[in-house]
Amino acid sequence: MSAFAGRRVVFLVLVAGAGLLGIWWWQTSAPALNLLMITLDTTRADRLGAWGGPVGLTPILDDLAKRGIVFERAYAPVPITLPSHASLMTGLYPPEHGLRVNNGVNRLGADIPVLAELLGKHGYRTGAFVGAFVLDSQFGLDRGFEHYDDEMSSDHVAADGDAHGHRMRAGQDVVSASLAWLTGRRREHFFCWVHLFDPHTPYSPREELFGEKYRDRPYDAGVACVDRQVGRLLDFLKRHGLEQRTVVVVAGDHGESLGEHGERTHGYTLYDATMQVPLLIRLPGNDPPARRVAVPVSLVDVFPTLLELLKIDAPSGCSGRTLVPAVRGEQLDSAACYAETNHPFEEAGAAPLRCLLTDRWKYIRSPRRELYDLSNDPRELRNVAEFRSAEVDELEAVLQEQEARFVQRDAPTIVLSPPDRRKLASLGYLGGNAAETVTEEQLPDIKDLLPHINAHSDAQGLMRTGEFQSAIGLLEPVVHAAPDYFQAWFNLGVCFQQLNQIAAAEQALQRAVEIDGNAPARIALSKLYLSQQRVDQAMPQLEAAIRLEPNSVEGQFLLGVAYRLQGLDQEARRQYQRVLQQDPEFLPAHQALKELP
Ligand SMILES: [Zn+2]
Repeated sequence: MSAFAGRRVVFLVLVAGAGLLGIWWWQTSAPALNLLMITLDTTRADRLGAWGGPVGLTPILDDLAKRGIVFERAYAPVPITLPSHASLMTGLYPPEHGLRVNNGVNRLGADIPVLAELLGKHGYRTGAFVGAFVLDSQFGLDRGFEHYDDEMSSDHVAADGDAHGHRMRAGQDVVSASLAWLTGRRREHFFCWVHLFDPHTPYSPREELFGEKYRDRPYDAGVACVDRQVGRLLDFLKRHGLEQRTVVVVAGDHGESLGEHGERTHGYTLYDATMQVPLLIRLPGNDPPARRVAVPVSLVDVFPTLLELLKIDAPSGCSGRTLVPAVRGEQLDSAACYAETNHPFEEAGAAPLRCLLTDRWKYIRSPRRELYDLSNDPRELRNVAEFRSAEVDELEAVLQEQEARFVQRDAPTIVLSPPDRRKLASLGYLGGNAAETVTEEQLPDIKDLLPHINAHSDAQGLMRTGEFQSAIGLLEPVVHAAPDYFQAWFNLGVCFQQLNQIAAAEQALQRAVEIDGNAPARIALSKLYLSQQRVDQAMPQLEAAIRLEPNSVEGQFLLGVAYRLQGLDQEARRQYQRVLQQDPEFLPAHQALKELP
């Protein structure tokens, strides 16, 4: 049967009953549908007009929403880019897929079914185009994509001082790359994922695009940017007649606090500012069904929903539920959404957070528990946990049941894993053999630490402009209040070193190594020792750093410096040459070679 004849059958179905209008696309048996998935990084739902945002900021997305299924209350399972995208691509909550932090230590397990792989097995051509290093292929989201474009230009390294060094590229470039790929695949079945990072820090008013318009609200300029880029993708579909056979899904990975609840960006809290995300699905056709769904849903639901729309069986063990009934216009049952963040613990030694969201309530498990009645306090300004202990107990019980159902991967409970145990010990929470009795409630509450996290961020700004003494003034109270805050100790050490206050620098860097013996901390400490000709103290740190990161050019270079200080000139020469083989532009090695006798 030709595609044309197929459409006629569909037409008959359509006129047979008005109630079937919304499912005509559903009846069609061929051709198979394409999938275009666009993820909007750091995009608050309430910045889009379709979710009550400012008029005119996102005209293209708002228009798309008028022609699609809008999920008014969609929630990220975690307010961090990599784990949230992993949930989107697997239908699993973070404890189940194992990516629970953003530090690039974890990689998605090879045995976990992912959307691209499933579609690839069904003959789809698969291409991904990501806008930030945090989604680099090494973290495992590339599996199943025959083309995974994570090429980041080094001149787009963010200057926001983030510990992870956000390497990114403009949505303009991401979309151009994806359009080039799509052009070659438009006659085949494709799954194309496009990730747009523009709203992320560092914010810019993008005057080259918008003039003065967003001077006072640069975050919005990033959102306006992604709107334009979505427009380019939709234009492509239209121009090539692909709207008829392409499912378009647009999803945010998390929002941005913008100062609400004391948080500037995202990751540390689970309030709606960072957890509620845009989610919409546009079905194929000229006049696809449009509706708005008010029931809370999670990004984990996207995976089974898309598979069902594409008529591919979802693998078993998926935590997400299909939203296809809502897509068809049927009532969707209410179901609680789980969310978590380990970021407070990873970054600042504060208790991780767990959350359960229902139609009416948001319950956050933290040292000082929180309960918000979203039906009359949507901005979560009044914590009613104290007055609603019955609800708190009930939601805590449901949360525990949910946690018990998770089949966890590579992620033993955070308090008891060996590195976390060490961290807890260094915090002073593990007295004697009491490890098993330590609970998350005994850790600091992130609510108390947010002002210090903000001060740390200000200190990083001062460091960038060379104001080290002022930075120390901010950092000292921070490490006093948050004694397990690795990055604050590390930066304090760097500041003291810059001011040549060696003893203080040594103390701060030693503390940083104690908290987290990672390679950068050990390299900084060994560099300090070498500047003092203290080779014996430098060597163990350096060797440990190189064991952790064998490709660290700086670590390898410092090893050469250590040889030189020991009078081992031949070894030093070989070491510098090795560094230059690895990075021919590493200037200190060129200089050091010249200085050798
Ligand atoms: Zn993100």
